[in-house]
Amino acid sequence: MIKETNSSALFAEAQEHLVGGVNSPVRSFRNVGIEPIYFHKGEGPWLTSVEGRKFIDYVLGWGTFILGHSDNDVKSEISKQLELGVHFGSCHELEIEFAKIIKKAFKYINKIRVVNSGTEAVMVAVRLARAFTGRKKILKFSGNYHGHVDYLLVSSGSGLATLNIPLSKGIPLEFINETIVVEYNDTSALEICFDKYGDQIAAVIVEPVAGNMGVVPPKNGFLKTLREVTKIYNSVLIFDEVITGFRFEFGGLSNEYDPDLVILGKIVGGGLPIGVVGGKEEIMNLLVPIGDVYHAGTFSANPLTLIAGIATLRKLMQLNYTYLEELAQIFEEGVISIKNRFNNGKMKFNRYGSMMSIFFNDNEVIDSRTAYNSDRGMYSLFYKFLLERGVYLPPSPFESIFISFSHTINEINYTIDRIEEFFINM
Ligand SMILES: *Cc1c(COP(=O)(O)O)cnc(C)c1O
Repeated sequence: MIKETNSSALFAEAQEHLVGGVNSPVRSFRNVGIEPIYFHKGEGPWLTSVEGRKFIDYVLGWGTFILGHSDNDVKSEISKQLELGVHFGSCHELEIEFAKIIKKAFKYINKIRVVNSGTEAVMVAVRLARAFTGRKKILKFSGNYHGHVDYLLVSSGSGLATLNIPLSKGIPLEFINETIVVEYNDTSALEICFDKYGDQIAAVIVEPVAGNMGVVPPKNGFLKTLREVTKIYNSVLIFDEVITGFRFEFGGLSNEYDPDLVILGKIVGGGLPIGVVGGKEEIMNLLVPIGDVYHAGTFSANPLTLIAGIATLRKLMQLNYTYLEELAQIFEEGVISIKNRFNNGKMKFNRYGSMMSIFFNDNEVIDSRTAYNSDRGMYSLFYKFLLERGVYLPPSPFESIFISFSHTINEINYTIDRIEEFFINM
């Protein structure tokens, strides 16, 4: 039953009790200048609002629901586990099964530890890297997001950052002194940096496909150089595959580039909160209770999350990812054809597999500044037009558009037609 209420009334009430009415900032829809929609139900590629309006969902829990919402197999496994208990706070069999599946998908992962969010997994990975190398500095790339860890919430003023500016108040400059920021895809800046600081760099952390500054694919050779240079200087290479893990194949980009540590999240929790750190045994074994690097978690690897993750991964094992690639290609062809027909040079489309983004920008170069400098007013108009017609894109040009196995050609065609309509009306 749809309740007799509406998003606007709920948001007004929420603002009395929750900061800004939300529990995570992008949910406020501020980037597109409207109020949030309150959702009531998710099924397949569809989200239904409290008003009973249906939307084709391209956000999918920020990349989580690769099978679509409320997948029947995942749901039934969760229900079975509900009967047995949702949290033991101790060992259970699903931990082993889950680890085996992750190891099957990621050939360079020998050991894993399961935590409750991507942010938490990043914290553990960086702590491990610092302990393993006995060094302090962490190199990250501008525009890459690794959760809200203090020392990684940093942007850079220029290619080779000399002056780090925290992206958040409440982070003392001392906390980011050991963070180096380099422009994503800038291999020469990376090499200059290693020339200068190489023997002090504990780890390089990277999104192998950037998905938090709009989608920016890695340039040819960039990830390979990363692996080579970190090997030369004995720095730990951390692939943050929270989005990309199981997004393009049963596994991730790690299988090609052999990072030392891999971070997973989103998809692998089947819709429940999760983060995973995995990697080479000699590094992972530094964690307590074997080693001296501390980590603990009350809800780590709780059976409800793991059963949802296992059910999702088992299903992905059987599915053919070319389905997602084909739908994404059709989406791309549709958008590019519209862009050409309406001669809209401002419209930019980026894609890597089933991760895509649309910006409006005059500049041809796509880097970490593109989304920030893009025409956000235009994105907001575009966004509202589609939303009113039942297409739910990410409420910010920095976030990725995702496609799930539950989407069909019908939803894609409908979406392309609405995008065309937007340009006809403009
Ligand atoms: C979402 C995300 C995180 C953070 O995960 P949370 O579960 O939100 O803490 C880290 N890295 C990347 C690449 C992400 O997309």
